[in-house]
Amino acid sequence: MRTTETVKEARRVMTVCNACRYCEGFCAVFPAMELRRVFSNADLSYLANLCHGCRDCYYACPYTPPHEFGINVPRTFAELRMESYAEYSWPGPMARMFRRNGLLVSLVTALSITLVLVGSMVWHRPHDFYGVHLGPGAFYALIPSWIMLSVAGGTFGFALLALSVGAARFWRDAGGGVFWRPRPLLRALGDILTLRNLGGGGQGV
Ligand code: SF4
Ligand code: SF4
Repeated sequence: MRTTETVKEARRVMTVCNACRYCEGFCAVFPAMELRRVFSNADLSYLANLCHGCRDCYYACPYTPPHEFGINVPRTFAELRMESYAEYSWPGPMARMFRRNGLLVSLVTALSITLVLVGSMVWHRPHDFYGVHLGPGAFYALIPSWIMLSVAGGTFGFALLALSVGAARFWRDAGGGVFWRPRPLLRALGDILTLRNLGGGGQGV
């Protein structure tokens, strides 16, 4: 992960927290933080993704603004998570396009949906489009099932691929190595399925 201002701020915050350690019983972030004396960019990305933004540490912390330390762990980690999602997401150019042109992307999406509807109207005779369809296959009278399945399957497949590439990038960056070793992978899977790191009291490492 690149060293951005957010990464630098997260490193500063974690350094203060590591000296303080008051919040170590609140969540998985703090015990994981205590295992480190220095924080690489990947460490910070990992810690940020352990945080679920409950804000317990913010309300307990005596160093929040206006204190000169200005500690705000949930906000810092929320910003870092946003950066990490953008950095690990795939394909990169589309992530950057969405980040810079959220309004444009939303408009293109809305326009595409409108085009499908208008296209269906133009493709079919008004009687078919506005008529009542009953009986077997009525649901597919306007848009055939193969088109629905192709679009849904393609979208699902693309989402699965994009998520897998993002996960692989995060895994490699966090020190999991290029090769997917079964043991840490199974452990990570177990943590996900049992929501282990949402249990409070922190057991993540
Ligand atoms: S959030 Fe505040 S109170 Fe909690 S460990 Fe960090 S510095 Fe200490
Ligand atoms: S999960 Fe809650 S307590 Fe833990 S770092 Fe995030 S906001 Fe703070």
